[in-house]
Amino acid sequence: MRALIVEDDPDLNRQLSDVLDHAGYAVDGATDGEDGWHLGETEPYDVIVLDLGLPKIDGVTVLERWREAGVATPVLILTARDRWSEKVAGFDAGADDYLTKPFHPEELLARLRALTRRAAGHASSTLESGNLSLDTRGARVFVDGQLIKLTSHEFRMLSYLMHHQERVISRTELVEHIYDQDFDRDSNTIEVFVGRLRKKIGSARIETVRGLGYRLVDPDEGRTDAKTG
Ligand code: CA
Repeated sequence: MRALIVEDDPDLNRQLSDVLDHAGYAVDGATDGEDGWHLGETEPYDVIVLDLGLPKIDGVTVLERWREAGVATPVLILTARDRWSEKVAGFDAGADDYLTKPFHPEELLARLRALTRRAAGHASSTLESGNLSLDTRGARVFVDGQLIKLTSHEFRMLSYLMHHQERVISRTELVEHIYDQDFDRDSNTIEVFVGRLRKKIGSARIETVRGLGYRLVDPDEGRTDAKTG
């Protein structure tokens, strides 16, 4: 999962970036509305945290522009004071949730988890596929109830695949959702991560769809193609 933080207070931006990084997100940051708008429109984030009081372009305008451009990424807005009119303007511009400063980082993380999983069509905070389960709250993965140790990149990749189960995910899409923009992206490393993940969760769990990408499957279930609907 990959997140964008648009916040002009450099200390808060860094603090939020650390919190999200620690929670397993690849994180990009912007400290003004112009940079934030540009990143949000050009990079495929899974969730965005947007402060409303920003230099260059204000947050509500940034959000309006994203929505006009068809950016459907869930956006949580940060409001400086408990001003109802600011929240209304934010929601009307296309916000999905809000937090009023100051807030506890745990509350932000909980709201972002809810936004990302709802955007992917999941109601529960634990994602499951056969004997594999991913606890989005604790960023932990279990196979048959046994905790599996994963590196941050392996976790991000598995989390993305589990949020989008039964869909074929291209290598490019994986690259875009597990690395931040400053990372030296090399799509060959995707194959390496998939290989390591297969060793840890079972080789049949990640199916290679030749020429298209990868798909998370439950090997104990019948072929998904046979299902209706
Ligand atoms: Ca601000």
